[in-house]
Amino acid sequence: MDGGALYRSLQRYVLTEQQQEFNGYPRPHYDKDRAVINSKNITQVRSMPGVQLAPDKRICDRCGTIFRVDNKGMPINRGDPCSYHWGRSYQRRGYKTPYTCCSRDSNSTGCTINQWHISENLDNLKGFVRATDKPQPVDGNYGVYALDCEMCYTTEGSEVLHVAAVSSECKTVLDTLVKPSNPVLDYNTRFSGISEKDVRYVTTTLRDVQDILLDKFCNKTILIGHSLDGDLRALRLIHDTVIDTSVVFPHSQGPGFKRALKTLCQVYLNKNIQKPGNGHSCVEDATACMELMMRKTKNW
Ligand SMILES: [Zn+2]
Ligand SMILES: [Zn+2]
Repeated sequence: MDGGALYRSLQRYVLTEQQQEFNGYPRPHYDKDRAVINSKNITQVRSMPGVQLAPDKRICDRCGTIFRVDNKGMPINRGDPCSYHWGRSYQRRGYKTPYTCCSRDSNSTGCTINQWHISENLDNLKGFVRATDKPQPVDGNYGVYALDCEMCYTTEGSEVLHVAAVSSECKTVLDTLVKPSNPVLDYNTRFSGISEKDVRYVTTTLRDVQDILLDKFCNKTILIGHSLDGDLRALRLIHDTVIDTSVVFPHSQGPGFKRALKTLCQVYLNKNIQKPGNGHSCVEDATACMELMMRKTKNW
């Protein structure tokens, strides 16, 4: 399939404006560098409906504790570390399954302790960028890429540590570590595979990455990813043409639930990714998303 045909066959999977909103994607604000995010369906973000928190208070996304921060966003700890489960517990026909991390009961206290509580701060939505219009190419192909990031938690919420993009031929076109802009509270090493020593001498900033991406993409370039909303929030990128493999391959229990990328790869690609102990690899995850969509278009 040539580039133009591929682009056209993928168009049917592009999220509508409503789907982007529903899934917590950053959408344009009338202030140029800001974004609007509907946090209702972002599973990892905890909120208490109807509860208005003081400006120096946050709800921990991991354990649900309300904690205070100083004027730089640094948590003020009074000897209460964050105790949480890094795995998940699923709702199954009226009961909750044990946590996948430690097999303990869904009501049990956390199996993992971190010094700081963390919170994806959705109030400070500045510094967002957006790809521009480009004239239509002769073959109608504005480009197709898959994207994946690893994130850490800083005093300003999720920030990118590692970003990768692959082309529709699954060639790596970007694979770079990024220096977080704010003090890091948790490197999320279990998932990111990255620790402080890996980014100590990194000088690439988010701004640099945004420049690289905007250079490659226009607003009609198709970006593919698995729950790409989190990646775009961390990249501070508003994008109109997005395919989300967690939406294309829906969960049997409806839109509030998501299947893991690892599961989709086992089921549809007969491929085992994210092997234990390795941390996630951005290139591997981005490639997996591209392959899933390739398989989908061929099936149709
Ligand atoms: Zn916590
Ligand atoms: Zn656990």
